[in-house]
Amino acid sequence: MIFKPERYKIPDEPQKPFIDVEEIEGYLYNARPDQQIIKNIIAKSLDKHRLNLMEVAYLINADSPESIELIKEGARTLKENIYGNRIVLFAPLYVGNKCTNNCQYCGFRTSNKAQVRKTLEHSELVREVEALEENGQKRLILVFGEHPEYNPEFIASCVKTVYHVKCGNGEIRRVNINAAPMDIEGFKIVKEAGIGTYQIFQETYHPEAYKTYHPGGKKSDYNNRLTALDRAQEAGLDDVGIGALFGLHNWRFEVMALVRHTNHLEACYNVGPHTISFPRLKDASTVNLDPKFIVNDDEFSRIVAILRLAVPYTGLILTAREPAQLRKEILRFGVSQIDGGTKIELGAYAASKNDNQNLDKEQFKINDDRSLNEVIDELLHEDYLPSFCTACYRLGRTGEHFMEFSVPGFIKRFCSPNAMLTLAEYLVDYAPEKTAKKGWEIIENNLNSLNGHQDVPEIRDRIERIKSGERDLYF
Ligand code: SAM
Ligand code: SF4
Repeated sequence: MIFKPERYKIPDEPQKPFIDVEEIEGYLYNARPDQQIIKNIIAKSLDKHRLNLMEVAYLINADSPESIELIKEGARTLKENIYGNRIVLFAPLYVGNKCTNNCQYCGFRTSNKAQVRKTLEHSELVREVEALEENGQKRLILVFGEHPEYNPEFIASCVKTVYHVKCGNGEIRRVNINAAPMDIEGFKIVKEAGIGTYQIFQETYHPEAYKTYHPGGKKSDYNNRLTALDRAQEAGLDDVGIGALFGLHNWRFEVMALVRHTNHLEACYNVGPHTISFPRLKDASTVNLDPKFIVNDDEFSRIVAILRLAVPYTGLILTAREPAQLRKEILRFGVSQIDGGTKIELGAYAASKNDNQNLDKEQFKINDDRSLNEVIDELLHEDYLPSFCTACYRLGRTGEHFMEFSVPGFIKRFCSPNAMLTLAEYLVDYAPEKTAKKGWEIIENNLNSLNGHQDVPEIRDRIERIKSGERDLYF
């Protein structure tokens, strides 16, 4: 078998593009797995080692039902061993849908004259955040189109506004952003405002495909987008999220490229992405694309399971683009974060709109419009531990210093207790009686399962303090 070795070396110029189509296609062409190879690769992953590109290619090419089942079972086991039963919850908050780009799949693209354009005024942004806090949200991701109005100063001021809104016991403790790529100065400005993760999706990593989907606008520059996170790192922003929009190009290529992007960041900056997202293409206002690369549900669950095994230490995000039933199934393969109570029409949280979606006011169609509490009910029912924890980022435990997985026992010592404390806050402040009853049971079960790994009496004490009115207690 002949294939080029992986290039983990630090490139001389960190901003040089690092996706090599031939290299990725070479791996995919050469990987002919049998079940023993698959078993060996899964064992390596369960031993908490990130897989190399050749190994990922083997998993991707494992098309027999038996091998697919092995991969899914491996991902389920890895999720249980590494992440335990926590699921972190967040909500997206769309701030503005003006856009100068023309991404062919997006309802916000500049050529879509049907889209109703809007940027939240300061007072509207405050009302949205109040409404989100009244539902119990603690973590948001602010979403922006690409437009001169949404410059780094504007984004930073939105972030600061969000942190200042306090409604009852509510507050937003972590504001992530999904926005167009910036220069190093721009990234410094948003970092200064206290953002959590800066998230950006390459959409498709295939340069030729990228060109056809992105005619015109700044986003037509593939390399500028690909190197955005290098600039973020240069600016000291080390908490970043990557993603690909599945449905634009061959999913096998995109999974390989996501892993390549991950090992590029690891090689250059000693820190991989905090999260990987894998949005699937959905209907959007006046969008009509060739369905050639559409990913079906079976392929989608394979993608999640393969990513889980490929990058055991990276958080995986599954959004409300997917229907509730599918989300429930896919959670088991290693997802660590989901959104709940999602509304993507601008201003919809404050208007508490529950009516049918209007695609001309939204970026794309979402398929899970359950309330946050309904999502939590289901998680509790499935024995998950819903978490609103924001401790690591607020204590500076990010990037290279992100110890969640490198310090033995870290999850049991910090993550699980913090998940319980933040769930306890939710149960006291926002949960209806039925949810609260089940929630306290789950907390009790989790306390019992800590078995001396952590100072259980101290956690119990903090839970009592929460019941008596204290907030924001964390380890
Ligand atoms: N304007 C920013 C940018 O392009 O980076 C923000 C991106 S957008 C508001 C968030 C993500 O939604 C995009 O990066 C894209 O992956 C995804 N998206 C766009 N159109 C979509 C569609 N029709 N279905 C599903 N996801 C879509
Ligand atoms: Fe604009 Fe982002 Fe939509 Fe592209 S994906 S049209 S850049 S909002």
